[in-house]
Amino acid sequence: MNYYIKTYGCQMNVHESEKIANILVELGYQECTDMSTADIIVFNTCCIRGTAEDKIKAHIGEVKHIKKANPNLIVAVCGCMSQQEGVAQSLLNRFPFINIVLGTTNLHLLKERIAQVKNSKRYANTDYCHHAELESYRTSTPNGWVNIIYGCNNYCTYCIVPHVRGREQSRQEDNIVDEVTQLLENGYKEITLLGQNVNSYGKDLNDGSSFAGLLNRLAELPYRYRLRFITSHPKDLSDEVIDAIARHDNICKSIHLPVQSGSTDILRRMNRRYTREDYIALVDRIRASIPNVGITSDIMVGFPNETEQDFFDTLDLVNRVRFSSLFCFIYSRRKGTPAYSMDNQVSIEVKRDRIKRLITTQNIITNQVSQEYHGKVYEILVEDRNDKYDNTYCGRTDCGRLVNFGCDTDLIGQFVNVRIRKSASATLWGDLVMDG
Ligand code: SF4
Repeated sequence: MNYYIKTYGCQMNVHESEKIANILVELGYQECTDMSTADIIVFNTCCIRGTAEDKIKAHIGEVKHIKKANPNLIVAVCGCMSQQEGVAQSLLNRFPFINIVLGTTNLHLLKERIAQVKNSKRYANTDYCHHAELESYRTSTPNGWVNIIYGCNNYCTYCIVPHVRGREQSRQEDNIVDEVTQLLENGYKEITLLGQNVNSYGKDLNDGSSFAGLLNRLAELPYRYRLRFITSHPKDLSDEVIDAIARHDNICKSIHLPVQSGSTDILRRMNRRYTREDYIALVDRIRASIPNVGITSDIMVGFPNETEQDFFDTLDLVNRVRFSSLFCFIYSRRKGTPAYSMDNQVSIEVKRDRIKRLITTQNIITNQVSQEYHGKVYEILVEDRNDKYDNTYCGRTDCGRLVNFGCDTDLIGQFVNVRIRKSASATLWGDLVMDG
């Protein structure tokens, strides 16, 4: 029996697909790469943008002819899209070949539902539950992903996530430490802690757990490995977390800190709960404590009411902070969020013009920051082969920079030293430095 999982969206979903895969492997399924040969197809969906949803529905529609050829095929849809109000039922109505729809906190029901589907029933479960501890089927070595907190309490006005992922639920610290230890025992060399807002970790447990405490405990595990985390909300990144990163060599000196806008007025309309000055002061504190830290960010242009002056403030912040890289987005209206019905939506022409200017500004900075690496030696964890080039491998520095280097031996999973020779935008190229 074969399984095929189609994953959409963020790293959280990629990791959740590892949990789905584990359930299917335990039931005796094997992964296949051709959907038409599958006995079960799972769509692990995203709804961050309306366009993403339309694309997913089109993909689900393509399954119709596969089901015709194989009437025993099981089709399941889970993830953020199915959690939205009314969507589970509308999926079942629109696609009669779907057997199972599960919400974001219902994955633990998958095994049972698969058994029940064999009696030709259809199921939709989207009631919020406590997140079950589920094991993962991982093929991602040397990098392992570990959830530490689910959900989000922040309700940024443009974001659908709190509406589909629910309130924050932290995992018990001991369970996280056990999972990380197990991965390290199995040879993993880099662990990335995952959460919509990792800095909130522990607040809902009311037992003194905190993100800084968790980082300190994990960093002291007696293994040679690196620890990373995503994502941090600027309002919650504490001095204790900054200290933990500074104190431990194995916590990567890399922080993804989405600012979203450089205008305090727009940040208020986004309900981000920090000002432009708060953000700049936080970056200054981080840089004072953690030399050579790589700070990356997300910025959205064209949020409702964004004036040319607001956008200018964003460009000014980008020039002051000098991110090592930046993910730039055009604001897109998301039904079900407060920003959807805000007045003064910005025209697409203005949004396109602003994103072009933002990218141009950041590209200049990225190139300048990259040149600071030239001639220096960095330790890289080799993560993969770069198949675009012969005998080329890639990995990252602890401050998060991607490095390509030539080598004719497979070094995946090893720490090596590389001298940087050149750069192309955010990507660095270098040569292996042999010991001695
Ligand atoms: S912090 Fe804001 S942007 Fe991030 S998931 Fe929560 S609501 Fe969405």
